[in-house]
Amino acid sequence: MVYIELSKRQEMILEMVKEFGPITGEHIAEKLHLCRAALRPDLAVLTMTGLLGAKPRVGYYLTGKKPTDVISGILGNIRVADFMSQPVAVRESNSVYDTIVTMFVEDVGTIFVVSEDGMLEGVVSRKDMLKSALTGENIHNLPISIAMTRMPNIVVTYPEESVFRVADKLLRHQVDSLPVVNIVSSNGKDQLKVVGRFTKTNITRLLVQLAEK
Ligand code: ADP
Repeated sequence: MVYIELSKRQEMILEMVKEFGPITGEHIAEKLHLCRAALRPDLAVLTMTGLLGAKPRVGYYLTGKKPTDVISGILGNIRVADFMSQPVAVRESNSVYDTIVTMFVEDVGTIFVVSEDGMLEGVVSRKDMLKSALTGENIHNLPISIAMTRMPNIVVTYPEESVFRVADKLLRHQVDSLPVVNIVSSNGKDQLKVVGRFTKTNITRLLVQLAEK
């Protein structure tokens, strides 16, 4: 079970919204004899955790969520776009050797394979590279296309998806990294344009940042 510790002021805001909600930020500030700006961080925490909802021009209201719902509230409210990394990609004619070099140079564990216009074609992991190296073939001449997991068997995420959904996908599919894509339609065909990378490291970084705040 995960508990969240609210500050005294945050508890007071919750009480106030319970009694007077929906209530605007200005009115809460007035009742607490504070300026609106001073309240902003507390209101941000309470809405981000999902304890308070906010409707434009109406004000804040209680969502009825319990503090124990907070972790799913936070992770469900943070978008992939806000925490993703730059993608590292190669073309499918790239050799296995060159892809391994790219992995070292870029310091990533997963590389995406894309078409000339950046559409997703494949994914290669460290173990895919090891497997190719163990075949005894000349990895300078071996194209990466023979080692990659290819479309349509790639698990992807989207900039607007929640971090909670991504964490669930990473676990369920037992992979380290998901390409972040936008769906692009051309000639009646849907393709996936790679715009980012979301890995287990991004989740870890997010948890540390949340804890530090
Ligand atoms: P490693 O193999 O280095 O432990 P992963 O667990 O991420 O890394 O990869 C395991 C297998 O899953 C590899 O064969 C890889 O090509 C494939 N894979 C990696 N990421 C994805 C993904 N997002 N969707 C589908 N398959 C993937």
